[in-house]
Amino acid sequence: MRCCPSSVLQPLRCVRLRPCIRKARSRLPLRIRELFTYISVLVHSLYFNSLTDSDVVFDSVFEPVFLTVDYITRWFGTVFVCLVVFLTSSILAIAYAVLLPLILNTYSPAWIVWHVFYGHWNLIMIAFHYYKAAKTSPGYLPLERNSSPFVSVCKKCIMPKPARTHHCGICNTCILKMDHHCPWLNNCVGHFNHRYFFSFCLFMTLGCVYCSISGRNLFLDAYNALERFKHLDVEKPGVPVTGMGVLLGLVPTGQTSYQTPAPPYTFRDKMTHKSIIYMWVLTSTVGVALGALTFWHAVLISRGETSIERHINKKETKRMANRGRVFRNPYNYGRLNNWKVFLGVEKRSHWVTRVLLPSGHTPYGDGRTWEVFPTKKDFISV
Ligand SMILES: [Zn+2]
Ligand SMILES: [Zn+2]
Repeated sequence: MRCCPSSVLQPLRCVRLRPCIRKARSRLPLRIRELFTYISVLVHSLYFNSLTDSDVVFDSVFEPVFLTVDYITRWFGTVFVCLVVFLTSSILAIAYAVLLPLILNTYSPAWIVWHVFYGHWNLIMIAFHYYKAAKTSPGYLPLERNSSPFVSVCKKCIMPKPARTHHCGICNTCILKMDHHCPWLNNCVGHFNHRYFFSFCLFMTLGCVYCSISGRNLFLDAYNALERFKHLDVEKPGVPVTGMGVLLGLVPTGQTSYQTPAPPYTFRDKMTHKSIIYMWVLTSTVGVALGALTFWHAVLISRGETSIERHINKKETKRMANRGRVFRNPYNYGRLNNWKVFLGVEKRSHWVTRVLLPSGHTPYGDGRTWEVFPTKKDFISV
């Protein structure tokens, strides 16, 4: 009998061994098998795809880190929302309990009307837009078959993606005209709630600036009062006056008394001053930080871009410049028109009813098809 060469026997051994390996693997717990499959796919994906580049390798290597960050962000979403509600409510409580009585007692009627009117309008705008931004669906891909044009396929959802749609790792789904995932809303910012998100940022910034400017003098008074109190606090009431007091003739000989001067500030005064300082520091800090974010989003809206598109367009501009061509953003209709499209302003009165008052109107289009949008330079005669 002729012996088989080892090169022929090797594949046969593999064929024989494979069912054994499968059997051994099937005995493992499901989670370990899933992990094994995931690592196997991950390793294969590094060299299988002919389009693989440094970005794909980077994404694949750091996938566990991204997953961990996504998981933490998803978990902390509710905590962040509670924090926003708690901090805003605390400022509101101070405004009603401390500032309003001061305003009513010291300001002229005209200033009282202004503060009461502006303060409440701003508060309503903040509460309305925050609630709508957090509760409105950003826009998801339809599950049923449709004839919408698409530009690529999502690797995670295995679904065709229309233009401007991106996958959110935290929501674990594709979002129409995705801007970013906002942990402070515990929601994605997409086609249907982008306006609410921006309006919330804008009115929250305005509210903080309003509190910060109008409370500046109160803050300085409260700060100075507390500083004065700190110095007076050195001589605390109830300290026994003996020895030195007797020597200096402050207390008659043979008498040990207790120095009990009237406290310069009551507990209520102290709390009032501390509340004013807390309110001013918080609103000033948030006003600066949120103001910078709102300004950046305003720049993006003026350009007809989302936060994600900003990165994509930057890359595309560079790539086309290397080829001697100029990149043009297809969703940029001109600065003013971009704002009209974003805010849903179709006629002059909408600047008041849809921008300066709470309005639940839906944005242009369905977020899937974009060629229906007007491309004329001045398409809305406002
Ligand atoms: Zn997706
Ligand atoms: Zn999301």
